[in-house]
Amino acid sequence: MAYAIGNGRIFTGDSLIENGVIFVENGRISGVSDMRDFSGQLDVDVKGALIMPAWVNAHTHVYSTLARGMSVEFHPSTFTQLLKQLWWRLDKALTRDEIEIGAMVAAAEFIHNGVATIFDHHSSPSYVKGSLEILKNSIVDKAGMRGVFCYEVSDRDGIQNEAIEENVDFYNRYKESHVVSGMMGLHAAFTLSDETLKEVSNVSSGKIPIHVHVAEGIEDELESINEFDLKIMERFKKYNLLNDKSIYAHCIHVDDEEIKNITESGGTIAVNIQSNMNNAVGIPNIVNFLSKGARVAIGNDGFGFSPAFGIRLLALSQKHIHGTPTAFSSVEVGKMIKMSYELASKHLDENFGTIEKGSPADLMVLDYDPPTPMTIDNFYDHLFFGITEAKVRSLYVNGEALMEDGVIKTFDEAEIRKESRKIADKLWKRL
Ligand SMILES: [Zn+2]
Repeated sequence: MAYAIGNGRIFTGDSLIENGVIFVENGRISGVSDMRDFSGQLDVDVKGALIMPAWVNAHTHVYSTLARGMSVEFHPSTFTQLLKQLWWRLDKALTRDEIEIGAMVAAAEFIHNGVATIFDHHSSPSYVKGSLEILKNSIVDKAGMRGVFCYEVSDRDGIQNEAIEENVDFYNRYKESHVVSGMMGLHAAFTLSDETLKEVSNVSSGKIPIHVHVAEGIEDELESINEFDLKIMERFKKYNLLNDKSIYAHCIHVDDEEIKNITESGGTIAVNIQSNMNNAVGIPNIVNFLSKGARVAIGNDGFGFSPAFGIRLLALSQKHIHGTPTAFSSVEVGKMIKMSYELASKHLDENFGTIEKGSPADLMVLDYDPPTPMTIDNFYDHLFFGITEAKVRSLYVNGEALMEDGVIKTFDEAEIRKESRKIADKLWKRL
């Protein structure tokens, strides 16, 4: 399938074309040109809108989708209690239907916000085997997105070899794919015994990247030191679990030595500001991560589907905790966006975040008509101050139109939401 989309501003990742056209062929960009040099007929006329690379979400939990509006009595005084009283009750109750429909709802939300690729961290202890395939079927096969999936290994209810196997099977099945991939999902150090880490180390032999929560709550770090006499990252390093594709979500309470462990192994920290603030667990010091040379990508931890909004909030959080409006500039915003694309590129062996010949056609069209001059030099300022509030009109992933003019093309969104309300109601009653 080949088409030409254009008549709008194009942010290519490293340049800005005032009025351009993109040629797409078999899921890839076959060329980009100025509209003045194009004499053919456009297949998609964006009428002055902004076209830029579609977003990546570096850490999410689509299984949490059905929790919206749920009322469960809980009185946590620590982060662990919050998990026990809320999330571990919910994930245990999930069955096949809820995993599937929850993922479709999440896909709808992501698509409306211009997200092409997600790194999902899944948990459904009553339905482990085959759960990642259900997610892949919903997110990738039906919705048309790209996804990197893993199952959360945890010893909270005893050792779960089934969870380790689910990760290994899935990882091996999709090693060669450019649309789907796997990782070794680990919950967090404080729910993982040495025995389990040893087993994970044996089966992954340093090759399967891990996706794990690190120091989200202070107790994760304290327990690691008290019980194992090692900091979290030192403990993972001891078991040879760090590699350049691994993802460490949160890292709020890590110290500089642990950041060094991450930097040296080439892994990526995924930050999730909205979730952190909602859980009142602290704010990651992203300024420090970046100054130490760490790779930092943008996740949402299952809360809030707009990466643009997440980016604004994380920049604001850094200005706030460092007490200066200069703590985090559009330069850092741009760096983090680039590193998010690079993370996805590593996992799916692609060149995301660029609109140039040969790149995958993962594009979003935004209703953004800049009220002031926009150039490549101030693009990320426009992003921070204005594009964050622009509506995503259309989304193309792998060249396929997942949404056009606000309407999802790959599945019946209204039908999914109707089904989801029914299923969520039943799920809540079971909790
Ligand atoms: Zn998480």
